[in-house]
Amino acid sequence: MVSLTNGRTASPSMRGNTTFLPTERDALRVAKVEREIDRAVGQGPGPSYDSVVICGAGFTATLMAARLARSAQFHGKVVLAGPRTVESRRVKDGLTLRGYGTDYISYALDVPQNEYVAALYGDIIDGRGIGTRNLWAQAKKGRDGKYEFARVFAWQGGLHAGYSRPLFYGARNSRMQGAMHELMDRSGVIEVPDKVGSLEEAFDLAPGKRPLIVNAGHNQRLLGADVPKVDWATIAVQAPLRIKPSGMRYIGTNSAMLAPVVRGKTMDVVLFNAYADPLSPRSSFYGIIVVEVYPERPGFNQQKETDILIDELYGIADTMGLELDDPDETLFHGLIPGSPWRAPASNPGTLELQMIAHPGVSATFSDGMTSGAIGAVTAAEAVLRGVDPDAATRRALRVMNRDRRMWNLTRTKIARPADLALRTIGGAATFYPHGLHVAKTWASAG
Ligand SMILES: Cc1cc2nc3c(=O)[nH]c(=O)nc-3n(C[C@H](O)[C@H](O)[C@H](O)COP(=O)(O)OP(=O)(O)OC[C@H]3O[C@@H](n4cnc5c(N)ncnc54)[C@H](O)[C@@H]3O)c2cc1C
Repeated sequence: MVSLTNGRTASPSMRGNTTFLPTERDALRVAKVEREIDRAVGQGPGPSYDSVVICGAGFTATLMAARLARSAQFHGKVVLAGPRTVESRRVKDGLTLRGYGTDYISYALDVPQNEYVAALYGDIIDGRGIGTRNLWAQAKKGRDGKYEFARVFAWQGGLHAGYSRPLFYGARNSRMQGAMHELMDRSGVIEVPDKVGSLEEAFDLAPGKRPLIVNAGHNQRLLGADVPKVDWATIAVQAPLRIKPSGMRYIGTNSAMLAPVVRGKTMDVVLFNAYADPLSPRSSFYGIIVVEVYPERPGFNQQKETDILIDELYGIADTMGLELDDPDETLFHGLIPGSPWRAPASNPGTLELQMIAHPGVSATFSDGMTSGAIGAVTAAEAVLRGVDPDAATRRALRVMNRDRRMWNLTRTKIARPADLALRTIGGAATFYPHGLHVAKTWASAG
């Protein structure tokens, strides 16, 4: 064991035979992650599995592999199976990574947070993707067809000053995954680029006799879990944005602005965020619009819904003085299938990590990567300590998953009264869930 400056201890790192000794802000971050892991996982007798096969090689999967690969017990005994995300300018998947989630990522990789952030932004690093304020203003289409905003208020970081700690990093998801892959201890991971098709195939890949098989991919029935069928999904459109020559309005640098639009009885989630990407060096924001849909209900028309959202994205960006940056190459739109709000139990010897860490709906709350990071690290720590990873991961994510559900109910069940409250009393209407709990799961600890 190695003593840290804060009096705690860390397991020796296997990453390139180096030991990272966190100092200053990183010491606070590591200490907080360790405290939360201790709370969710507790202590156990030590590993009962002799190897781990992770099916899926995306965001959550890579982080679990990274944490295990740098441990003395599982170095060389972790399989990361499946095709990795290919980097491209198109902005598929989440782009707002909370500072709190980044603490878990740096912990899993065993690097200072700045090293990970430098890998995200590369040679365009100038602070522009780093978020220190979360703003909010309800939006609607005016009679002239242009979007207008209600009063802008800050629900985190104040209107002008900003937090002293990173609230979020706006970056391209495929770069985030690329950076993890670059910084993780790859010598401790067995990478298999093929998709796993069954539990038996996963077992065949294990380098030991008592493996834990983890489902971190999107085939929910891969390991035989009893998964209820769900009929919800989300449609999302998103694109990087550049500032028009006339200048931007309503939003400042290093900010995110949530600008929900009520359509019918629900709210479209509209979010504009500080953003930076070395492949899109002229962008300094991105915009996303997400709506919950029920594809099997009569009258559902994916193309029509997507067109409405793309129109909204162009219209609201215009009001803010922003424009889409090379949409032919960068714009993403797609339908993301939903998951049960409560993940089914993992069968013995398996862990349904994807469903535990990503319940309900995707892309609506800037939380999927953070819940993925917490889930991945907690599951790995449970394996290292010999504690049930299913129970530990659920405990670690209880608050985040509840807040995601609360926000979902607000948007889909009480959208009109919530819109009225947000327009009239502003920040006070966000007290729950935003003020109370959600704030705790945004900022980095240091
Ligand atoms: C458009 C979009 C915007 C998002 N915005 C944010 C954000 O701002 N902040 C944040 O923290 N998270 C966001 N998320 C969620 C976040 O991207 C994921 O939670 C995160 O990548 C970790 O999930 P994973 O490990 O399962 O991902 P990966 O294994 O990396 O896989 C993600 C991929 O799987 C696809 N997918 C997701 N669910 C299913 C499914 N049930 N069946 C088939 N394919 C599926 C996705 O489209 C994506 O291509 C967003 C997701 C999307 C799609």
